[in-house]
Amino acid sequence: MSDAKGLFVQYLRQQGELGAMPLVLSGQRQERQESTPSAVPPAAAASPDPGPAWMKGAPPIPGPGLTITAPTKDLFAKDSLADASLEEIAEMVRTCTRCPLHASRTNGVPGEGPSDARLMVVGEGPGANEDETGRPFVGRAGQLLDEILAAIGCPRETVFIANIVKSRPPNNRKPEPLEIEACLPYLYRQIEIIHPAVILAMGGTAAESLLGTRGSLGTFRNKVHSFRGIPLVVTYHPAALLRNPHWKRPTWDDVRIARQLLDE
Ligand code: URA
Repeated sequence: MSDAKGLFVQYLRQQGELGAMPLVLSGQRQERQESTPSAVPPAAAASPDPGPAWMKGAPPIPGPGLTITAPTKDLFAKDSLADASLEEIAEMVRTCTRCPLHASRTNGVPGEGPSDARLMVVGEGPGANEDETGRPFVGRAGQLLDEILAAIGCPRETVFIANIVKSRPPNNRKPEPLEIEACLPYLYRQIEIIHPAVILAMGGTAAESLLGTRGSLGTFRNKVHSFRGIPLVVTYHPAALLRNPHWKRPTWDDVRIARQLLDE
């Protein structure tokens, strides 16, 4: 070994002992210690960006233009939610202190709807009206959602309506990654129990959190994704439609995709 190469090897060893991140040279294969190859589709395994820490436990990251298959392993195996019923989840949400949002909320908002709903709508998080009542989508955005659902022949009372976070973020700010991470297991378990025929993710937060990848709404919508094998359609959040009515047309296209999937 040349002097220069020997010194470099020694440097790398020292860095390793100091706990530095491993250096991966272009073309070098890196083994992932925690990887479970059978659970991760090849496209996701090849993805250069594993996503932020809060994505742990979320579906794998898709390759471009691909639909996503979520991991088959049971995300709740070591969690108290593993056997929880919808009613038990609702009670756990109401008394939840898993993230700082509990301190400022009035009511947790677990979500509502029939346990055999074929369509599940997922929004971002409760606003002021929802925080006050403990029910999802009951403000102006909720009224618009009711109209959208009625227009595709899915009256609200037939749909399970939930949110990514179950406690209101102060001043309706976007939920923080750690708040989402703390809350997602509730939604995962709700989806597992209800096992809807179609999931409609409304807005970027719902789409990114359920698909486990970042992107603009434009890249998510007008496609059929998959969450653990359940078809998932992304569209604009009703609150965004109130601010930008020109998004109503593309929303209509998206919800009709959901309708088609329900009819299949
Ligand atoms: N916006 C949401 O994302 N969810 C609600 O429940 C209400 C408004």
